[in-house]
Amino acid sequence: MNVVIFGPPGAGKGTQSDNIVKKYNLYQVSTGDLLRNEVKNKTDVGKVIENIISKGDFATDEIVNDLIKKVIFDPNKKNKLIFDGYPRSLTQAENLDVLLNESHQKIDFIFFLNVKKETIIKRIEKRKILENRADDNLSTILKRYDTYMETTEPVLNFYSKKTNFYEIDGDQKIDEISTKIEEILSV
Ligand code: AMP
Repeated sequence: MNVVIFGPPGAGKGTQSDNIVKKYNLYQVSTGDLLRNEVKNKTDVGKVIENIISKGDFATDEIVNDLIKKVIFDPNKKNKLIFDGYPRSLTQAENLDVLLNESHQKIDFIFFLNVKKETIIKRIEKRKILENRADDNLSTILKRYDTYMETTEPVLNFYSKKTNFYEIDGDQKIDEISTKIEEILSV
């Protein structure tokens, strides 16, 4: 099965996908991780996006779509993918459908983690202490939230019409969210 998990920064996408990866033996595809990797390895793309990420802006669809392609066409990962932080724009959502179609796959479950802005601020401040991410300071968080709302809203409209779309209350405790997701996945 292939799963998409999306929601604002700090919604718990990473934590929930880690859990699903372990339980269902899937491969996590985090575009945030893929992008940070490019930055760390100082690749051409990495040099272009370093500034963009630290400001809380989005990398271009072209860059992200390119990174995601390699993973989708990897035969070892076929039908074992969980997308975390992708798609974040309508163009990316449409691109994902095209790539999955071309590789004879589909999305089986779409989870939207819906979280209040105040919860996000609290969680990201905590994560900054734990992970020390360059983009986890308050002004960047607020900027990332606004960027998210602007560009990801169309993704929500696009996915919420589908029958395999599930909205989850992301303000709940981690365990409660995991239980809810597992209940849906096991049906
Ligand atoms: P994340 O780890 O998912 O919170 O992503 C961290 C940052 O990477 C985001 O704030 C964006 O700057 C960038 N990023 C991650 N995924 C995407 C995406 N699908 N499209 C554009 N930018 C992205």
